[in-house]
Amino acid sequence: MSPRRARRLDPFERPDGRGAARPVTSVPGVDRVESAPDGDWVVRNVAGAALGKSYRCPGCEQEIRQGLPHVVSWPAWPGGEEERRHWHTACWRNRANRGPGRSRY
Ligand SMILES: [Zn+2]
Repeated sequence: MSPRRARRLDPFERPDGRGAARPVTSVPGVDRVESAPDGDWVVRNVAGAALGKSYRCPGCEQEIRQGLPHVVSWPAWPGGEEERRHWHTACWRNRANRGPGRSRY
C-alpha cells in the first residue's frame, strides 16, 4: 500500500547493529564471558592461524606455537581489551587452580 513502509525501519534497524549479521549458532572465534574469582573475563577461542607471531603463555611461561589453537582473554570491563593475553587452552582452564595471590596474568 505505502511505498514508504520499508523505509520506516531504517532508523531502528541499522545494518551495522551489533551481532545483526552474525549467525546465532556457536562458532569458534565468538567471544564468551567467563566468571572467575578475580572477575569476569572475555574469552575468545583462536583457531591458531599462522599470524607470523608467537605469544608467550602467562600460565606456563612457554611459547604458544604458531598454528596452535589457543584462547585469548581479557578483563570484561571497558578498556580491558588493552590487557589481552594469549593462553594455552589448558593453562587458561587451570588458571583458577593457581591460587590466590598470584598475578592475574
Ligand atoms: Zn601455557
